[in-house]
Amino acid sequence: MQSNRQVSNLEVRFRRALWASGLRGYRVHSRLPGRPDVVFPGKRTVVFVHGCFWHSCPKGHLPEPKANRSFWRSKFAENQKRDRAAVADLEAAGWTVLTVWECDLRSDFDQTVTLVRTAIAVGLPV
Ligand SMILES: [Zn+2]
Repeated sequence: MQSNRQVSNLEVRFRRALWASGLRGYRVHSRLPGRPDVVFPGKRTVVFVHGCFWHSCPKGHLPEPKANRSFWRSKFAENQKRDRAAVADLEAAGWTVLTVWECDLRSDFDQTVTLVRTAIAVGLPV
């Protein structure tokens, strides 16, 4: 299991890389639904950096916790429901929502940054 702290270090690196690549205008601690990790108000685009464990990575590379299975199942279901609600609210308000997964940043950081940069440049979801 990755701690939240490790994920947020990765998130800081990711934000710095976007900044270094020339993308400007992000702001942290947004009050938007779901509190996106990076916001581009001018492009009306937000980016979530999701930790694979807490947000139930769709790539299915994490084993289910063995202990307290029903606790974790309902916890993960709650998180997913909250994530979906945030995306729906943001999209309804006209935002483009991009989601970046922890495992993608870990396996190919530069490529993930490039994908996000490209998506923001052309206004398409990743
Ligand atoms: Zn993952």
